[in-house]
Formats: sequence, C-alpha cells, structure tokens
Amino acid sequence: MGVLHLTRSVWEQIRAHGEETYPHECCGALLGVSMAGGWKVEAAVAAGNTRTDSAHNRYHIAPLELVKIEREARRQGLGIAGFYHSHPDHPAQWSPTDFAEAHWLGCSYVITAVAQGKAAVTNSFLLAGTTEEDKRFEQDTILVEGDVVSPERC
Ligand SMILES: [Zn+2]
Repeated sequence: MGVLHLTRSVWEQIRAHGEETYPHECCGALLGVSMAGGWKVEAAVAAGNTRTDSAHNRYHIAPLELVKIEREARRQGLGIAGFYHSHPDHPAQWSPTDFAEAHWLGCSYVITAVAQGKAAVTNSFLLAGTTEEDKRFEQDTILVEGDVVSPERC
C-alpha cells in the first residue's frame, strides 16, 4: 500500500473540478516528488477531457497536453505523481477501462465519486508492478495535511 500526501488546496481542487464538470468526468495530472512509500503532491493540473464519445465514463489526456504538463513539472523540479479523474454517480473504484488505460507504473490514480453533483468519496490506487503484464492497482492511503482521508474508516 502506497501513501499519497496531498495539500489541502490540491485535495479541494481535484474535488471541485469533479463538481464543475458534472455530469461529465473531469481529469488532470498530479505533480509532486517521490518519497519513501509514495508521493508528495505539490500541484494538480486540470486537463481538458478530450474524449467526446462518452465523456461521462471515459477520460483521456491528449498526448500533447501531457507533454506540456511534464515539461512544466520538470521546470518546477517536480515529476508526474499520478492522475485524477471523477466518476459521476459511480463509486470511487477503478473500472476495467481505467485499468486498461493506466500505463504509468509507480504513479497514483485518484478517483473521486461525484454524487448528484457533490464530491463524495475520493480514493487513490497505486499502479504497482514492473511491466504492463504484471501491473496491478493497490489502494493508497491518502493523507491531507497529515490526516487520513482514504480509505474511509467504517
Ligand atoms: Zn474511471
């Protein structure tokens, strides 16, 4: 299990983005520095959702946009820590499509459920493994300013 450290403002930004684009999915990238056991995220970059076929359950960041995001990250001394998107009226769990389209081994994939336009549960999944063949999602612990917010305690 990995640990994803978020600042309060990044946490609020990615959740607000999901509310803004509801009933469509939002998506974006997370920039940060790697640390023992996970990532410390310093910034979130919103991306345009370029999938027009079914923007409510698919997300995609255009390759050119991703190149720009990576360049900007490097300029700030940061790396791509992961990606985020929302699930309008669906649980904050990865879908088979999310898994198939996840290729950044060692990065975290954050999913926020947006229920009736309001951000609900946010979860993060680390893409573990060493190759495309043995990759797998492992649930991260999300810390916001040091407080555990995911997985939710029952
Ligand atoms: Zn998804």
